[in-house]
Amino acid sequence: MSKNSADTPVMRQYLSAKAEYPDAVLFFRMGDFYEMFFEDAVITSAALDIALTSRDKGKEDAVPMCGFPHHALPGYLTRMVEAGHKVAVCDQMEDPRKAKGIVKRAVTRVVTSGVILDAEQLDAKVSNYLMALSWDGGEADPHGPGEGGSAGSRGTVGGGEDEDLLGLAFLDASTGEFLTAELPGGQGLLDEIARVRPRQILVPRGSLGGLRQLCPGLGSLRLEEAPEGIFGDDQGDHDLLAEATDASPEWVALSAGARRASAAVIRYIRTLFPGRELPPFRLVPYQVSAYLVLDEATLANLEIFETIMERRRQGSLLGVLDQTVTAMGARLLRRSLAFPLAIVEEILRRQEAVAFLVERAGLRDSLRRAMKGLHDLERLNRRAACGLATPRDLGAMASSLRAVPVIVGLVAEAAAGQTLEALPELLQPPEDDLGDLAARLSEVLVPEPPVGCKDGGIIRPGFSAELDELVSLADGGKEQILAIEARERDRTGLAGLRIRYNRVFGYTIEVSRSKAREVPPEYVRKQTLANVERYVTPELSEHEARVLGAEEKRVELEERLFVGLREEVAAAESRIGRLAERLATLDMLAAFAEVSSRNDYCRPRVDDGDLIRIQDGRHPVVEQIVGPGRFVPNDLSLSSGEDQVVIVTGPNMAGKSTIIRQAALITLMAHTGCFVPARAATVGVVDRIFTRVGASDNLARGQSTFMVEMKESANILRYATSRSLVVLDEIGRGTSTYDGVSIAWAVAEFLHDRIRTKTLFATHFHELCSLEDVKPRVRNRSVAVREVGGEVVFLHKLVRGGSSRSHGIGVAKLAGLPQEVVERARQILDHLERGADADAVAARGLPLLAPQLSLFGEVGRAPERPAQPEASDASSKEALRRLRELEPDSLSPRQAQEILYELRELARKGDDCT
Ligand code: ADP
Repeated sequence: MSKNSADTPVMRQYLSAKAEYPDAVLFFRMGDFYEMFFEDAVITSAALDIALTSRDKGKEDAVPMCGFPHHALPGYLTRMVEAGHKVAVCDQMEDPRKAKGIVKRAVTRVVTSGVILDAEQLDAKVSNYLMALSWDGGEADPHGPGEGGSAGSRGTVGGGEDEDLLGLAFLDASTGEFLTAELPGGQGLLDEIARVRPRQILVPRGSLGGLRQLCPGLGSLRLEEAPEGIFGDDQGDHDLLAEATDASPEWVALSAGARRASAAVIRYIRTLFPGRELPPFRLVPYQVSAYLVLDEATLANLEIFETIMERRRQGSLLGVLDQTVTAMGARLLRRSLAFPLAIVEEILRRQEAVAFLVERAGLRDSLRRAMKGLHDLERLNRRAACGLATPRDLGAMASSLRAVPVIVGLVAEAAAGQTLEALPELLQPPEDDLGDLAARLSEVLVPEPPVGCKDGGIIRPGFSAELDELVSLADGGKEQILAIEARERDRTGLAGLRIRYNRVFGYTIEVSRSKAREVPPEYVRKQTLANVERYVTPELSEHEARVLGAEEKRVELEERLFVGLREEVAAAESRIGRLAERLATLDMLAAFAEVSSRNDYCRPRVDDGDLIRIQDGRHPVVEQIVGPGRFVPNDLSLSSGEDQVVIVTGPNMAGKSTIIRQAALITLMAHTGCFVPARAATVGVVDRIFTRVGASDNLARGQSTFMVEMKESANILRYATSRSLVVLDEIGRGTSTYDGVSIAWAVAEFLHDRIRTKTLFATHFHELCSLEDVKPRVRNRSVAVREVGGEVVFLHKLVRGGSSRSHGIGVAKLAGLPQEVVERARQILDHLERGADADAVAARGLPLLAPQLSLFGEVGRAPERPAQPEASDASSKEALRRLRELEPDSLSPRQAQEILYELRELARKGDDCT
């Protein structure tokens, strides 16, 4: 670095600040600008698209630099963080005009994607989490659990799972929400990460490799090794939690891993707010098993938060359900979908409140109207507690708190003369409505305070006698100046004479230059401009001192009073937090009630039983798209004892996916406490919902469709339990028909026999319908279509029995395939269905079908295969004959099984001969 470019006092100050935050880009305040130097300038100019220049331009070792005006900071911070950078903001700590020597500067905050407090940089409806993972394991067992864990050896793989207890903690710094849990490694971790969706994930130094080995799926996430000293030792963690968290005894019982992750979050966040005391952290431990688990694939496949294709909220379940009117409510509702309740009593508690509000449309309307006026109390509260709230923030808090009695009153009124105990528990009025704080804020603040403190105008007249005096002095002074102006104009006869104010010269008497010779002798010239001369008089200077002095004192005093008020608010942090939580809950429950009432949902019976029964169920999103009255409702029943594996067949576009997804969505919705789109429903609580849906090519992760499909299936077979709900929309599509049918069959069998999971299986392999004949708890259902004169009509109705035809050609015709192609396809189909003989094939140019498994259908002979010996042929023919004569409907499961054994014998005989 060149001596002249870097060896100045300011540069030394810059370098020392930078040394403290080597991993952050330093925004360095100089006058009215933030400047960046060296590598930081290169990064910033590229990220923000601003010009890169240099100090000591032209010299070989010139220092790269760039800058932007200070008022552009919020927008530029957002863009830097979105581009994945961490930014340390170094501010001037004193007024440059008053500074003696070089202005003091210090880093006042560090902004990273996971820790943002400014409302402008945050999505109001989405929580912004920083997560820390702690894991003390050494090298993970490569055969241990994980996303790629082998399927089919349930209970035999994954040894050591219990020892790999992992701690995780996540904090939304903008609201103070702070949760921690411990869990086994591998998939459980991915599931938690998928639903929390943290913006930033910290792990201990040196643990990246081990963690990725433990849980291969982590490979696609951006994990950040925390700076030195963020993860501590057990004693240190213990002490830190005791000191920094709200004294809640629960955390003492936490595992060392959860403690370690929580303490790391606190340590890290403290480094981001140097010199600022942060409010106590309300750490809440949770049990993963208290919530229904939804893995990443399920959240995506069921389009819970966004659509798969366009990643839009509209068209997702959240898009339909989120009728909240506050940001707090919207965030809570989102969280409730990510963490559906798995404890019946808690679900019933929500249902009770939703039912109360569904029944009272008037109350619901008034409540939602009243809540619309609420600002984001959670985030305002946290900003106040961190000493960052502006006067406008506190004004917003004041107006929100003033609305609380109205809201509470509306609910209390609804108890309609009965005691408040008659209200559902979740609608009970809050014990503390913060009336005292509301009154205090109203007493101190003007009704609409400004954003900044610099110009005063924050404190209500009448609150402070001292302030009122300063205000009248300053204002009175201004009046006097007007009086002097009028008097001087009179006295001098100069009609254009004006008294002006500017920052550098203060008050001056301004006269046009053409009249300059006419000014009285006591006027002292201060400044000469192109057209005017400016003068001062002793009288004016004296006034100026008084007015400006009063003005300055007034601003200082207002700021002091404001900061005092902010501290009072900060002291009420946990009270405000509790109230905000109640309001968020109320908003969410009212939203559930609103959407339930608007769309005619029913209150499901939720219990610990094993049954899921849906009568006239609808798909909450598709029904909105197809329009009122056009959605065909359907019944469905599932239980692990009877209707355990339901196989849904039917042509493309019949509505198979819709029906199986709607069952999953209704089940999920029931777990949130919301009503469901059905005429009636019973939902036994499940522990997980798994889905494997369509072709979700995960090219970003470098995996082919078929690989993704098999991994998702493997994951299901590994983790599903008899209390899970599994939704399979096509398995085995990504490979040859034989492979596909075989895999699909084996998967269904495994779910039926081994796990006994409630399963919905939509498939275009009609062959799977034979499962019903051999497995006692398999049920065939199909989505009805009618083919009238070659035209397919979709009825969207689920009926008993499997579908026997694909109607693929009918659907192709509907889709507009040329008539000629449709006709030819029919010819070929006809030929294949009748069994192709080689001569016809040669004569008519028709395809040969590769040989089919005898159990599944017709036999065709592959020309490239060697001719089969006679005996084998005879066995196949015999087997086929038996199959053709079968009347599946008249067989008992037992008879069916016997026939299967016979058929297998015949097949083996055939094999022996080859
Ligand atoms: P499949 O999975 O059988 O190919 P989908 O479930 O994707 O069929 O349904 C295709 C389309 O049919 C849907 O997008 C929807 O527009 C319509 N549909 C499906 N089910 C229904 C229903 N029950 N009532 C009305 N329209 C439906």
